[in-house]
Amino acid sequence: MLDRVVSPLTTSREPVAPPRRLQRLRRTASLRDLVAETGFTQSQLIQPLFIVEDPAGAGAIPGLPGNARLSPGTASAQFERDLEAGVQQFILFPVPARKHAHDFDPAFICEAIATLRRRAGEDASLWLDTCLCSYSHDGHCCLHDARGEQDLPATLDALAGLALAYAAAGADGIAPSDMNDGRVAALRLALDSAGHDLVPIMSYSAKFASQLYGPFRGAANSAPTHGDRRRYQIDVRARRDALASSQRCAAEGADLLMVKPGMSSLDLIQPIATATGLAVGAYQVSGEYAALALLAREGFADFDLALLESWHALRRGGAAFIITYGARLGRALGLAAR
Ligand SMILES: [Zn+2]
Repeated sequence: MLDRVVSPLTTSREPVAPPRRLQRLRRTASLRDLVAETGFTQSQLIQPLFIVEDPAGAGAIPGLPGNARLSPGTASAQFERDLEAGVQQFILFPVPARKHAHDFDPAFICEAIATLRRRAGEDASLWLDTCLCSYSHDGHCCLHDARGEQDLPATLDALAGLALAYAAAGADGIAPSDMNDGRVAALRLALDSAGHDLVPIMSYSAKFASQLYGPFRGAANSAPTHGDRRRYQIDVRARRDALASSQRCAAEGADLLMVKPGMSSLDLIQPIATATGLAVGAYQVSGEYAALALLAREGFADFDLALLESWHALRRGGAAFIITYGARLGRALGLAAR
């Protein structure tokens, strides 16, 4: 019995152990397809829509090709095109015309929700990003008291007020992105108390303070006027914090969890899913999407292939769903509908 052979890959006359030829199954497309472990459908991609109250603020979003700020009027047309392109999941980002210290008014987005909900039927789900930063005068995701400290009770009240308005208008799900302690429990209680006990919560449960949110902040008009968000978002070095935050969201009643930024949180998706038993999604954030577009623009990558590669990597990391600015491209990139 031969346990050592002469390798064809060496010019040496000395017998060597043969390399394991992993390339055999990489040789053709059909062999690669045979052993592919990840796959997904367009129904697992969520398309963000930015809806501005002031039509003058509508238009292309710098850094995010294929995405625009939509007025309530143009949102319906884009929604229609997206439905025709096979998009089934949307996350709406309200961008009010005026910012206030408190007493936020979501009437414009509620009208848009109701319009899109009537059109969507059961073909699509509308998730509502729920935060204060696009409404608040200082662009923070929480309210502050007179001393400049975070006012948690007032923050949770304001978030609950928005969530209730969104749910009453027809939102299919609430997606709190603020990272304030206790918000999932507060939103669950408020929703249940108002008869919205079947409205799920998709919690941004592991949201890191990041440099990769740049194009989004322009689109959502949510950049803070002072300070930064490191007092409530997670430090990129704090893995335990990300797990604890996700476990707490699950314990408080979240139905779905999420990591953000997605591509730099690949190490956390499966551990969070295992620890909580919940489906965990990944948000391919604006900077990550823009980076691929910039590479392609400079001729360093094929945008479509890079996008697909990034989605497969997120899927391989355990993502149950992906929020991406390219969701409406899914069918064109060859994904099955469901
Ligand atoms: Zn926010």
